[in-house]
Formats: sequence, C-alpha cells, structure tokens
Amino acid sequence: MNLLLVNNAEINQEQQVRLTDRRHQHLLQVHNLQVGDRLQAGVLNGQCGEALILEHQQEHTLVQLSLTRNPPPPLPVTLLLALPRPRMLARSLEHLSTLGVKKIVLLQTARVEKSYWQSPELKTEKVHQHLLLGLEQAKDTLLPEVIYRQRFKPFVEDELPQLSDGSRKLLAHPGNYPDCPRGLNEQVTLAIGPEGGFVDFEVELLQQQGFEAVQLGERILRVETAVTALLSRLF
Ligand code: SAH
Repeated sequence: MNLLLVNNAEINQEQQVRLTDRRHQHLLQVHNLQVGDRLQAGVLNGQCGEALILEHQQEHTLVQLSLTRNPPPPLPVTLLLALPRPRMLARSLEHLSTLGVKKIVLLQTARVEKSYWQSPELKTEKVHQHLLLGLEQAKDTLLPEVIYRQRFKPFVEDELPQLSDGSRKLLAHPGNYPDCPRGLNEQVTLAIGPEGGFVDFEVELLQQQGFEAVQLGERILRVETAVTALLSRLF
C-alpha cells in the first residue's frame, strides 16, 4: 500500500479520518508508524497529499489529511478485454488499475468460457477491491470504470463505433501483422483476446470497425502479461 486511499464520506469536518478496517490493520502490521509520522494519502476520485498520524492504537488509526496534488495522469486508452479466467481477471484488473487504464470493457468472445461470468471474482465488491489495490500501488485515486458486455456482435456493431470514435483502434493478435506501434501520443482503443485468441469472425468484425491488427512477436503471452507489454510499448 503506497497510498492510503479514503472515501470522501469518511472525512470529517476537521479533515480527519478514523480507520478501523484493512487499512488500519495494514498500517499497524506493515508500516512501522508512530504518532506524528506522515504517509502519502488520497481521496478516491479526488486529490492526493499526506496523512499525518494523530492516533495509532490497537483498534484504530486516526489521521489528518492535507490534500494538495492531482493524481497521476491516466493513460489515454480504452481497453476491450475478452473476459479472462477468474484468477487471471483478478490480476489483470489490478495491473490495469496500476498502469492507469480508466475504462475497461470486459467482453464475451467465442473462446471465453461462459461459466466465467458466474465467477465470484466478477462481483462488484471483488472487482472494486482489485481496482483499489491497483490504485494504492500506483499512488492514484481515479477509479477505473468497468463495463460488462456479454454479446460481442451487438457491442462491436452498435456501441463500439461511438466508444472508439476519434481514437486509434488496435487489435492485439499474434500472426503475420504489423508490429505493435510504440510511444503513441493519442487516444487508443485496444482489444485484447482471450487465452484461445480471437476467432476469424471477431477479427474481421473488428477490422470492419477500423481496428488494425498488430502483434508483439512470435512469443504468445498470457493475457496479464500481454496487457502490460502492450501498454508499456504503446505509451
Ligand atoms: N492462443 C492464441 C493467443 C492467445 S494470447 C493464439 O495463439 O493466437 C491472449 C491474447 O493476448 C491474444 O488474443 C492477444 O490479444 C494477446 N497477445 C498475446 N501474445 C501476443 C503477441 N505475441 N502479439 C499480439 N498479441 C498477443
């Protein structure tokens, strides 16, 4: 936890927050903090700054906030991600949140097992928790938006044109395609496939919407690795 993240509703009129949950436990067990110490803090979807420890006891920690800075800039990308298998989803969400992605569309595709949609990892609370861990790691406060689309074709035909309007549209797909571009300075919509990859029909449908297929070389990466490799190369 590189950043103590609090909700606006937890802050009292004196700009103080009383912590008793996971964050308190973490401060107690991991950080060797004492009254008078400061640590980095931020308000969810708000500013960053410092928290001064006022009280640090077995049952609670009381901090005083002083928030002066903006969070780091987001990555200019909307990510379309074929719903990964539950454990990979958890890790991928955390990575995406840490890397600064603010819009994630989790998609059903032909090679996504339908049962994945029933996984407890997809519960709102769980997804929120992974995103928060990613923000704490990156010292960011802006919660990514996650949307869920279980019908690929209607999403791509009816919603994607507007969602990706004005952006560079890229489809990560291993094969005989141009190299993935580097160091872009523009808004990007990036599609990443499932473990089995996109099927031809999906590639064609995305290409019809203006997506360029690009590749990262002959090594096939796991989804969570591909996400990181693609984003660090693109921006
Ligand atoms: N089994 C599939 C690959 C799936 S990897 C196949 O052989 O085609 C999961 C996803 O990660 C892919 O759909 C793609 O979006 C991305 N990916 C992984 N390795 C990649 C590479 N070398 N180039 C481009 N995209 C890659």
